[in-house]
Amino acid sequence: MHIKDYFGTMVFSAKTMSEYLPAKVYQSLLATMQNGTKLDPGIADEVARGMKKWALQNGATHYTHWFQPMTGATAEKHDSFYNPDYEGGVIASFSGKELIQGESDASSFPSGGLRATFEARGYTAWDPTSPAFIKKTGEGVAVLCIPTVFCGYHGEALDEKTPLLRSQAALVKELYRVAKLFDLSSDKRPYATLGPEQEYFLIDLELFKKRPDLIQTGRTLFGVRPARHQQLDDHYYGQIKPRVLAFMAEVDQELWKLGIPAKTRHNEVSPGQFEIAPVFEEQNLAVDHNMLTMEMLRMIAFRHGLACLLHEKPFAGVNGSGKHNNWSVMGPDGKNWLTPGETPHENAKFLLVLTAIIKGVDEFADLIRATIATAGNDHRLGAGEAPPAIISIFLGAQLTDIIHQVETGGAKSSKASETLEIGVSSLPVLPKDATDRNRTSPFAFTGNKFELRGVGSAQSCAAANTALNLSFTWAIDEMLTALEKDISKGKDFNEALQNLLSKEIKAHKRILFDGNGYGEAWKEEAKKRGLSNLCTTPEALKAYKDKKVIALFEKYKVLSAVELNSRYTIKEENYETVIALEAESALQIAKTMILPAGISYATELADSCEALSVFKNKGVEKLAESVAGTVDSLIEAIEQLEKSIVARSSKRMITAMHKTREFADKLETVVPDNQWPLPGYGEMFFLM
Ligand code: ADP
Ligand code: MG
Repeated sequence: MHIKDYFGTMVFSAKTMSEYLPAKVYQSLLATMQNGTKLDPGIADEVARGMKKWALQNGATHYTHWFQPMTGATAEKHDSFYNPDYEGGVIASFSGKELIQGESDASSFPSGGLRATFEARGYTAWDPTSPAFIKKTGEGVAVLCIPTVFCGYHGEALDEKTPLLRSQAALVKELYRVAKLFDLSSDKRPYATLGPEQEYFLIDLELFKKRPDLIQTGRTLFGVRPARHQQLDDHYYGQIKPRVLAFMAEVDQELWKLGIPAKTRHNEVSPGQFEIAPVFEEQNLAVDHNMLTMEMLRMIAFRHGLACLLHEKPFAGVNGSGKHNNWSVMGPDGKNWLTPGETPHENAKFLLVLTAIIKGVDEFADLIRATIATAGNDHRLGAGEAPPAIISIFLGAQLTDIIHQVETGGAKSSKASETLEIGVSSLPVLPKDATDRNRTSPFAFTGNKFELRGVGSAQSCAAANTALNLSFTWAIDEMLTALEKDISKGKDFNEALQNLLSKEIKAHKRILFDGNGYGEAWKEEAKKRGLSNLCTTPEALKAYKDKKVIALFEKYKVLSAVELNSRYTIKEENYETVIALEAESALQIAKTMILPAGISYATELADSCEALSVFKNKGVEKLAESVAGTVDSLIEAIEQLEKSIVARSSKRMITAMHKTREFADKLETVVPDNQWPLPGYGEMFFLM
């Protein structure tokens, strides 16, 4: 079948709606979807009827409110469409009320203390801006999924989607304000855009099943990097193995059915590592689509006898996985506002938007860092891997030069030939040049968008985008207020803008950095500039308690202080839980698998010493002694690990896990291959 014939067939899209809904209802719903106008509750029953008809025709037996609690995953509870009809048969029903709102017990979802003060009941409410879809996972297994927000009894946000939607609403207001100021047409719906590049690993399912650490924690807690790994650079963009390609092809097809515009697929840097990227979409939809993509990757891998690992660091010593979060804003004039324009007037707007991003990210760098802080992502950020934990902005040589000109320009005395005058000069065409890209930067301008590279591969993009939206909203709000004031006083627009940009760039240019983000020199320099380098989750999460951050969320009605604090609690608890789980898992594996293998090999060697004693064989004795010594050290490390778990100290657990791993991995390099209880890295990387 041609892609044209099945793209989006599992989505209750505008096109499908027009077929299944009365014209008036369709128009009203479309306005809600596209312009965010308030949903007319009077049409809910008719929408539900049309949706039900479409879902049943496509084999759905159940429906669910599909939401994103703060577990990092999606949640669903299926209800059948069918009820007994008192004649021994069944009748399908689905009301407007069932479509719009669901009631569920929120008590088993993380609430970060919100529940202590509120009731346990939770509500899901339809988000009509993300279309309903059917998830078909097998013959006769199909569920109508209705994207919803999830909140507590008094409307407290208990999910990832609610703050994202609220931050978008705040952002959109500012975009209209900019449009007005620049006298732009504003007949289109403005929104933020997102294109998430998703990295993942694949390994053979049979090997996965033999690794209790992968099963329980998503990453290997032990294991030695094989001689050959990523150093030949032969995997990146390499030829895709047929088995992997078959998997990727099915993923693409399933995503296309769901209307997810999967676009690129390729091998990544590490052996066994891959990437899938869609064409960018409206942010809320893109987040939903990314959540679905992760789900599909896992499920379809299984069908192919593979395990898809979404963890940020499944294997030590080779690249981890991230999610490059490509972000931009689409104005009410229907244009991407991070595309440098063709006229001086358009460029003035571009520079205003760009400067607001610089200002916002500089002011709220710690918040952005906090949103991407997880136990898994700690292995990347702040661990000498892409990108560093220090948030900075890469603009590229040309844009840096322009920004410098704006900073120093503006003053009437400046020589026109050397400085750029806002609203008078044109910007040079900025090449979208691959060579100009700095792979070490955590937040890079790449032609017509910014790319936040720190998001973890297993994470939802929602929180990071909420932070980006908000920091931008705050900055541009401040700047517009200043501009509007100047103009009302009768100042020349271009001059006022020029002065404002110059002032803001001066104040925030410390965040701009085009150099090597991995070097020690940058750490020193960043410190001098007063930029944070928050290497661990507990350090990073403190931003949620910052007065400035609380004020930001309250000002734009995104989260109350109480709601924000609950997020801090949830993230902190999650971190502690993950570390404890890893420690316990490591302890179990070390005690029941690795130590026995070490002891039996040490015993074997001791026996060999005796058997070979007639030869006075010093080498075997030395080996036996060394292995026995490592076994002893391992036992000691295990004891420490046990104690750290009893003490419930995540810091101590991490140190003890490192020590345990050190001796376990040492044993892996000497114990005979056929006696080692776990599949090795080499097998997992290359046997696929
Ligand atoms: P790379 O950065 O890896 O070279 P691309 O330039 O193709 O890759 O872009 C990566 C992602 O950025 C894709 O998902 C793409 O759709 C997305 N993207 C492109 N333009 C925008 C935009 N204006 N807003 C958000 N994302 C965008
Ligand atoms: Mg990219």
